Amino acid sequence: MVDRLANSEANSKRIGFVEACFGTAGQPLAIPGRVLIGEGVLTKLCRKKPKARQFFLFNDILVYGNIVILKKKYNKQHIIPLESVTIDTVDDEGELRNGWLIKTPTKSFAVYAATATEKSEWMSHISKCVSDLLEKSGKSPTGEHAAVWVPDSEATVCMRCQKMKFTPVNRRHHCRKCGFVVCGPCSEKKFLLPSQSSKPVRVCEFCYKQLSTGASHSDSRHGLEYSSNNGMSDDDDEDDSSD
Ligand SMILES: [Zn+2]
Ligand SMILES: [Zn+2]
Repeated sequence: MVDRLANSEANSKRIGFVEACFGTAGQPLAIPGRVLIGEGVLTKLCRKKPKARQFFLFNDILVYGNIVILKKKYNKQHIIPLESVTIDTVDDEGELRNGWLIKTPTKSFAVYAATATEKSEWMSHISKCVSDLLEKSGKSPTGEHAAVWVPDSEATVCMRCQKMKFTPVNRRHHCRKCGFVVCGPCSEKKFLLPSQSSKPVRVCEFCYKQLSTGASHSDSRHGLEYSSNNGMSDDDDEDDSSD
């Protein structure tokens, strides 16, 4: 199915349309063998709150951007090579339903579909693309991935010392290793996490100790698999750019 579509006119047209929606700010997307598998609006859990983003699944990359005008204009394009992607289902919680994690070595985040059917379609298509790619390249799945950041709203006090209350003065920070929301004094240290940045990034006291002693166990105090997100300054949300 995928191979049959690869050079079809319809596929080229659709990819051209996606390129046009991103305009000159986007990357060229049409390359030989690339197929647009599907597209749709997903809710991406950002640092402050969930936000609607337009996603495009190709057979080798996942592209998303902010919606300026639906089906007409998108910006802040992000391109994720599928080869490095792992996905994991997320349990429904309150209004956040039909979600899953998209994890990569540099950046990991949760997205939510409108319905359970859409979720299972997205997840199965992504898995299929990833496994086809890995099969073709003979590579094995990426083991390491960046932490999913705990949203700011989930922590009113520091998740490490459990004491410091967050205020406009005592600001929230994110540990790049565990993704916890922590206070300044609990995250004074930086550590080099090469998969995320060429410069040392902010880590919490707990992770710093583990990293510097070479222990690589993940924190078991928190049941969820919240590890660290990227410290990339090109995050798609202006309010995500600080740490
Ligand atoms: Zn603290
Ligand atoms: Zn940490």
